[in-house]
Amino acid sequence: MTIISRRGIYLPSHKKETLRKPVESAGMPDRLAIPLFLYGETDNPCVPSVSEDSRVRKYETVGVFASGFQAISPADATVREIREIGGLPYLILEPDEEQQEPFPLPALDPKMVLENEIFERANRAAVTAGGRPLSEVLDTYKKRDVIQLWVDAICDETYSTASIELLRTRGEDLVSGLRLAARAIGAQAGGILISAFSSYGLPEEVDGLPVEKVLGKYPLRDRVREKLAMTQGELLDAGALLGLHEAVILGKGDVETLVTVNGNCVATPKNLWVACGTPVNYLFDVCGLTEEPTCFLLGDAMTGRLADREDPVALGTNTALAFVTDKIRKRACINCGRCIERCPQMLYPTEIARALDAKEYEQLLRQNAVACTGCGVCSYVCPVGIDLTVKTKRAVRQARRLLEEEELAKAQQMLPNAVPEEEPKPVLSAFGRDDLLDPVSYEPEQETLSFFTKSLPPPKKQTAQENKNTQKKPSSKKTDGKKPPAAGKSSPKGKPGGKKTKKGAKK
Ligand code: SF4
Ligand code: SF4
Repeated sequence: MTIISRRGIYLPSHKKETLRKPVESAGMPDRLAIPLFLYGETDNPCVPSVSEDSRVRKYETVGVFASGFQAISPADATVREIREIGGLPYLILEPDEEQQEPFPLPALDPKMVLENEIFERANRAAVTAGGRPLSEVLDTYKKRDVIQLWVDAICDETYSTASIELLRTRGEDLVSGLRLAARAIGAQAGGILISAFSSYGLPEEVDGLPVEKVLGKYPLRDRVREKLAMTQGELLDAGALLGLHEAVILGKGDVETLVTVNGNCVATPKNLWVACGTPVNYLFDVCGLTEEPTCFLLGDAMTGRLADREDPVALGTNTALAFVTDKIRKRACINCGRCIERCPQMLYPTEIARALDAKEYEQLLRQNAVACTGCGVCSYVCPVGIDLTVKTKRAVRQARRLLEEEELAKAQQMLPNAVPEEEPKPVLSAFGRDDLLDPVSYEPEQETLSFFTKSLPPPKKQTAQENKNTQKKPSSKKTDGKKPPAAGKSSPKGKPGGKKTKKGAKK
């Protein structure tokens, strides 16, 4: 598959440091922080089902969400406390020194398993995709009449190789997960998609399904989705599909994630199997540091967020990065227009940032801010290092809120006798974590951070205004934006390799 686009960018690659290297287990840290929330959901709090000092076994339910989804324990452990980290509630577990072999759920026959059994097992095993329960994602696809599913192993950013390594080491299990997901929604299994730049040494097909190489600029995923949508196809995250395979075929809970640990001060970059809730600094202890980092990123280099060294790794996190960088700049926008020229969604990031700062929220709708995918291209190409993506992501949330309010107002107009419901108070909000999501300001006199060493040519004389003439008219169409991950701070106690699981790496 080839994606031809004038927009987007070619990124440098630091993948060879972790590609085709042995995948290891990170071991068990001295504490785990289990999130009692689902990212971005304010009306679905998780009520713990365990009490302080009680003992839990691996895969045991430790909390139940309002929606019925469950939080499960990644280890044999003692429940210590419920603590807020970064304003969000976590259940703190202290894993046992010796981990016992867990009791799996009964294995199901992949040929005989019923659709509803796949949904139920995905929920029981707490399988998530992009921070949401996988069952909800599949349900959405079913309602949209998706007829073909593909494994998303695209990995098109600078550092992450986790999905590629999943394909290399667990390809048949990924295909098994894909077939189960397809069966659950009455769709076909299409195959596996990878970036052509990372495809060296990978098979042409796995268990009868093609491994399709995608050639094009970053961000590939959104363009691929558009292309697949023409034939009612969709993508599903490789990690989620592996979780589904293990839940149905092996009866395991989804409690581990494969994380690429890298950065310009990491001594031995690695791909590590990490238990959900592991503090991020534990991973850098395992891989070693050549010097003290000035910043950490959880999530990839283009779309990840600045993290505290003690933030817990969430399920689905596939990259943890540490950098020593002096790319802190104090420069104003020079109106070069590059961010507008390269935005794959044909937006005006500067205008969106300005409207947000000026609280001109209607203007955000006119600028179609909801179409921003948070890909990070605008920040990356800015020659003076302005981090526009921080603003555009915030603008997406603001614009969505506005759209929801408008929809609610319209619905109330249609029901003149209806008593308006009291506005529910947000219980939790990952979106409220603007302190972490926006460490810098767009104001020219304040600092802006860029993580990349770029050698861009001098800015063109083209202005943002000139570029506007080439843009399509904005609309207020809603799109599927990624919800940002969030996590919090807590004190580290873990030491690399301090506690060993009996099983070692995920099998
Ligand atoms: S982050 Fe949003 S505004 Fe910036 S380039 Fe990507 S889609 Fe465009
Ligand atoms: S890339 Fe955008 S924000 Fe950066 S200087 Fe050019 S016009 Fe301004």
